[in-house]
Amino acid sequence: MKPKVAVFDFTCCEGCELQILNCEEELADLLSALDFVEFREAMTEKADYYDIAFIDGACSRKSEMARLKDIRKRARMVIPIGACACMGGVNCLKNYYPMDEVLRSEYGEKAEYYETIPARHVSAVIPVDFFIPGCPIVKKDFIRVVQEILAGRIPYQYNDPVCAECKVAGNVCVFEKGMTCLGPITRGGCEATCITGGAVCWGCRGFIDKPNIIAEKLILEQAGLSVEEISKRFNLFNACKDRI
Ligand code: SF4
Ligand code: SF4
Ligand code: SF4
Repeated sequence: MKPKVAVFDFTCCEGCELQILNCEEELADLLSALDFVEFREAMTEKADYYDIAFIDGACSRKSEMARLKDIRKRARMVIPIGACACMGGVNCLKNYYPMDEVLRSEYGEKAEYYETIPARHVSAVIPVDFFIPGCPIVKKDFIRVVQEILAGRIPYQYNDPVCAECKVAGNVCVFEKGMTCLGPITRGGCEATCITGGAVCWGCRGFIDKPNIIAEKLILEQAGLSVEEISKRFNLFNACKDRI
């Protein structure tokens, strides 16, 4: 029997689900190993039970809290995918403002028809079994996690900082070029793709388990960033991790 798999979307851009559908070369193998029973972005069928429920998106409505709890009851494993689901991601930036102000700025005079609560990551609402970070997730990370689960193993969670892969990629550190970067404290596994592509790391995979925050703040300060700029940099993807 193939494991029954569902993919659910909450508050997000759905880009991480799209990454699953974008696994074009591996899609046939995925479909022969997994029984997708619910996946709104790809099919209309629904199911009552799932061996693995992948969750894309943060929780930002009361109804989403109830829905998450319901999914947890029906699923053997729950795995958040992407920054929104794993850490709250960019959704948590709204938590700095009163919720009625957030609604007004988004919906104007129609604000009264909507409800919202401070955004939170999935594990702030229900227990989870693993997580796949990134904005968006890395396709081969998703495939690897599925393979490890199918083999009966607890998947490996990458915990070296982005700097490790950045060095392997042969990049010149952006600090040497007058730019700044969150690579020293950010969970790798993306092959330092942004730095290789000419940008910097903004921390989309969340922080490593024991980040040296003090040292990172110090090097950002030495590079000329103000306290406010450092705070903005830290909070772009990580504003609600462990704060709700
Ligand atoms: S983590 Fe990024 S790509 Fe994934 S759903 Fe959230 S905003 Fe979209
Ligand atoms: S560019 Fe960023 S990720 Fe690469 S070595 Fe420098 S600080 Fe680390
Ligand atoms: S380099 Fe940083 S921002 Fe870019 S994908 Fe990797 S973790 Fe995310």
